[in-house]
Amino acid sequence: MMKEKYIVAVDLGGTRVRLALSNKDGSLIGKVQERVDKSSEKAIGKQIIAIIRSLCRENEIDCVDLEGVGIASAGPLDLKKGALINPTNLPFEYVPLTKPISEELGLPTYLVNDCTAAVLGERAFGAGKGLDNIVYITIGTGIGGGAIVDGQLLLGKDGNAVEIGHLTIDFEGRLKCGCGKKGHWEAYCSGRNLPNFVKMRLEELDEAIVEKSLIYPKVKGDLSKLTSEILFNAAKDGDKLSLRLVDEIGVLNAIGFANVINAYDPSLITVGGTVTLQNEKLVLSPVRRYVKDYVVNRVPKIMATPLGEDVGIFGAVAAVLKFRP
Ligand SMILES: [Zn+2]
Repeated sequence: MMKEKYIVAVDLGGTRVRLALSNKDGSLIGKVQERVDKSSEKAIGKQIIAIIRSLCRENEIDCVDLEGVGIASAGPLDLKKGALINPTNLPFEYVPLTKPISEELGLPTYLVNDCTAAVLGERAFGAGKGLDNIVYITIGTGIGGGAIVDGQLLLGKDGNAVEIGHLTIDFEGRLKCGCGKKGHWEAYCSGRNLPNFVKMRLEELDEAIVEKSLIYPKVKGDLSKLTSEILFNAAKDGDKLSLRLVDEIGVLNAIGFANVINAYDPSLITVGGTVTLQNEKLVLSPVRRYVKDYVVNRVPKIMATPLGEDVGIFGAVAAVLKFRP
């Protein structure tokens, strides 16, 4: 009997690295999650190798029998070198990944942008089965996207074709993005930067309105303690000001979504990322409501990804299935 071959899926974020083994149908076994080892730029590759070895031991699989390794990671990437270049959420200039892993384990190893992976995963295992025009958008710590257009995965010259978090949605550039430029979508609506938007708006509003809102006691009067979680929880509790701000964020998200729809003309947009997955209705309802004010193309179905927070893992599996010879 042929032994079943497993694929190693790696989802590398700024804080956590998650791994799983998968068969080609996307059945996951042995999910593991660790904090990223940031002790040196080579430590991350070593950490992934160590987890793969222990996953194999625990599941009685010989490493040489693995099909390959797929790594979904936040960028920017250098696809040819299989490395991260000045990653925004890791304190290194260069993080080599595919070479150390493939040399050490003797396995084909593929690196893809996490959102590129996610759209592949959506098409292979999620809501995008059978579709040729899909966009995946993440609204989490940052904002990013992946797109399949006419059945073609969009990659770009360096693998960063769909950096939609850095679309300009505010030409006045009131807020500065983590990338250093002003007015980008991510600077207003991502989990990390949304507090900056709220603070800016609160400073513009009447103090009495602010002090009456639920946000005020939750940050104990100190707006520097504000997080996106506090805002969305206050909105869930029915706080008027929070609901108004969530609605304003929805308008900005709708501008971002409309730009994406006008550029790629998808028949489905799935949305992931912690901000979306934890506040599905508050994030997606205003987008559906306001997107028609900005879009010229026919509005596609917009939904949260059914793959949840495993979308990167499924994407890494799908990347190996797509790119292996
Ligand atoms: Zn930016």
